[in-house]
Amino acid sequence: MSLTQAAPLLTPEEIAIRAGGQQQVPFLVLPQRASVFAEREIRLRQLAAGHPMRDFLIFMAEVVHAQHRALQDCPAVEVPDDAALESAARLGMPAVPATDWPRDPAWRAVFRSLLDSLVPRLAGSPALATVQALREVDDEWLDAQADLLLHNLMLGLELGPAPLIGAALQVYWTHLVLSTQAAGEKSRLAPFGRTDDATACPCCGSHPTASVSRVNATAGNYRYLHCSLCSTQWHMVRIKCSHCEGTKGIQYQSLEPVGAATAEGNRAVKHPVEAETCDECGHYLKIVHMERDAQVEPVADDLASVTLDLLVSEAGFQRHGVNLMLLFGEPDIPDDGGGG
Ligand SMILES: [Zn+2]
Ligand SMILES: [Zn+2]
Repeated sequence: MSLTQAAPLLTPEEIAIRAGGQQQVPFLVLPQRASVFAEREIRLRQLAAGHPMRDFLIFMAEVVHAQHRALQDCPAVEVPDDAALESAARLGMPAVPATDWPRDPAWRAVFRSLLDSLVPRLAGSPALATVQALREVDDEWLDAQADLLLHNLMLGLELGPAPLIGAALQVYWTHLVLSTQAAGEKSRLAPFGRTDDATACPCCGSHPTASVSRVNATAGNYRYLHCSLCSTQWHMVRIKCSHCEGTKGIQYQSLEPVGAATAEGNRAVKHPVEAETCDECGHYLKIVHMERDAQVEPVADDLASVTLDLLVSEAGFQRHGVNLMLLFGEPDIPDDGGGG
């Protein structure tokens, strides 16, 4: 497999002009309770077929299936009151920040419900023992691990259980954002909007997993960043680095086009996942293209395209995207660490 490189066609300014200002593009796309995890599960199963990482992707599909069930059954949780929302808006801060929001103990109940859903579905799987062992952990340890994950700290984080703890935090934060939005609508407030840091989630302040190019029927395609924690998507103009916000030296790297080997004149079908690399700061973020494959889902497609990470990091770029289900360790972890 080799990298193919494509030059950007339009500058951000040209795209903004084409968009006729930004008004017709919604800034935020909040997750849908009924479909956010269900669509991710479907995509994972689709990508798993014939994939070298099939078992891993199927296991993740089971985790996401449990997340979907947990999100439907979440109990009511405390949300920021009107004064807190107004204060966050005035300060240009996210209303339910991942690093500061006092987590409701309900998140730990979500974690345990994920384990309970998973156990009967993992019969014969090597992951079963890990999942069963996690039923015994205490609250203090769980909260300490959650703090490390939410602060992006690897030191002291146990990598084995981390995806399951991350999965529970995703369910809780998605529920928190949707509950905050619902409460805000009742008091005619918009709890979420633009914040000072355009590179962080406007709801919870987390890093994105990847960008998604969404199809807009009337006005072309728009790039959104997909939050790694609460699955909110926020708009950012295309061809702009999501780490340093630079617009020079942006390039796109992808694996071979889909269907390149079929010799059926199918070469025009481009791979739906690319890496957007920035020469200025040396970071990259993947972008998944809905216009190339309507089923793409940022978290699932990120998990299934680790080969692209390897190729781009060999070229010297550092990953900016966060995927709580697959943590990339510190750069000096030995190669023979062995996946699991
Ligand atoms: Zn978020
Ligand atoms: Zn950059």
